[in-house]
Amino acid sequence: MIYDIVIGLEVHAQLLTKSKMFCSCSTDYVNAPPNTHVCPVCLAMPGVLPAINKKAVEYTVMTALALNCTILEYTKFDRKSYFYPDLMKGYQISQYDAPIGKGGWLTIDSNGVEKKINITRVHLEEDVAKLWHRGNHSLIDVNRSGVPLMETVSEPEISSPEEARDYLIKLRNILRYLGVSTGNMEEGSFRCDANISIRPSGSKEFLPKVEVKNMNSLRGVYQAMAYESKRQREVLDEGGKLVQETRGWIAEEGITVSQRAKEYANDYRYFPEPDLPPLVLDRARIEEIRAKLPELPEARRERFMTQYSLPVYDGNILTNSKALADYFENCLKLMDRSKAKVLSNWMLGDFSRLLNATNTEVENAKISPEQLAEMLGLVDNNTISGPAAKEVLEEMFHSGKRASDIVVERKLSQISDATEIKEVVKQVIADNAKAVADYNKGKQQALTFLTGQVMKATRGRANTALVREILIQELGGK
Ligand SMILES: [Zn+2]
Repeated sequence: MIYDIVIGLEVHAQLLTKSKMFCSCSTDYVNAPPNTHVCPVCLAMPGVLPAINKKAVEYTVMTALALNCTILEYTKFDRKSYFYPDLMKGYQISQYDAPIGKGGWLTIDSNGVEKKINITRVHLEEDVAKLWHRGNHSLIDVNRSGVPLMETVSEPEISSPEEARDYLIKLRNILRYLGVSTGNMEEGSFRCDANISIRPSGSKEFLPKVEVKNMNSLRGVYQAMAYESKRQREVLDEGGKLVQETRGWIAEEGITVSQRAKEYANDYRYFPEPDLPPLVLDRARIEEIRAKLPELPEARRERFMTQYSLPVYDGNILTNSKALADYFENCLKLMDRSKAKVLSNWMLGDFSRLLNATNTEVENAKISPEQLAEMLGLVDNNTISGPAAKEVLEEMFHSGKRASDIVVERKLSQISDATEIKEVVKQVIADNAKAVADYNKGKQQALTFLTGQVMKATRGRANTALVREILIQELGGK
């Protein structure tokens, strides 16, 4: 039987506010000693009252607008009751039937075709404390409790593990462009739960869905979705029945394991938070926020294509990461704008290769945009050849030294002196009788080979255009 995969994603993103959602404790807790960023509110002492963080509401409105949602005029907070040791109050303040944003969408690239994934809702809630399991006991750190958490829920319209990954990359990119979250999955500030089910191809019925948790990387989400769709298929093919449940992803083993039967909304006994008034979002203020939204990835891609005449491929890759796009523009500010494609080639080519090989994020690279622009300037004014530039870039990447210093240290200045090149060319012609014979028979590749030999003999320093010119001359002008 052929099955379709149905995936809906719930993403929790910690917001980059200075203080927590309902108290004034600092959210900068990552390197703080346990239980130092706490107060009676986030410790859930009796009789305390929460107060809403205005910035968190604003960030959620920004995100909801960027995701094309309708912003509700009257929203409110609700209590979601459940028992878990990391939940200080025994309930979480969340939003139930009146989320800040509803009915939006984002687009992903699905096999070269744009696909719209609808967004059900964007709402605001608070993070829970952190449990540290030590042997046969557990410790609790309340620092994280109450950090603003924004949840974005997609419609079950994602049809493959690849699409799930692309959706997350797109959403994370939008949050980063907005500056509302670090979007860092490994550090837990961007977390994803996935609802996945399968159904016979073409069918419209929904089979019991499984909620998969504990995926802490994009790769983990992709692998968990691939594993879970295969597992469900096997259960059905063997005549078994699927049950609605929550399963945890065990990255080390590459499997999901059943954790508990899935809760339904009525298990949480949602009711309006009595300690907070309903939240009325002023229309004028919403429009003010909309007008001030920063440029988003798609708009930036279009601008890169028109303003810098870049092909769609370059535009896509450069703007798919805000950091990379920023780097590109910072570099280009110091260069002639007509060199945009050259810069893009270096960034998407050798520079990206070095970043990937060393698992370095572009913002942590030792080469600053100023340094890369300087290096490209040396190529442009013929100080160094293309091959030498590759060597310089590699050294810059590892040492952080300036290109001009490396050129002096390694004696990489380009040779543009015709007499000097002619001497090397003569030697290469003498040493490569076969290639010369091939060339005389009309084989053009022989010329490329001989050019390569001259470049090799000069350690990549010779001016390539000049080398070809002199070679043709010395070979008899063919
Ligand atoms: Zn607090």
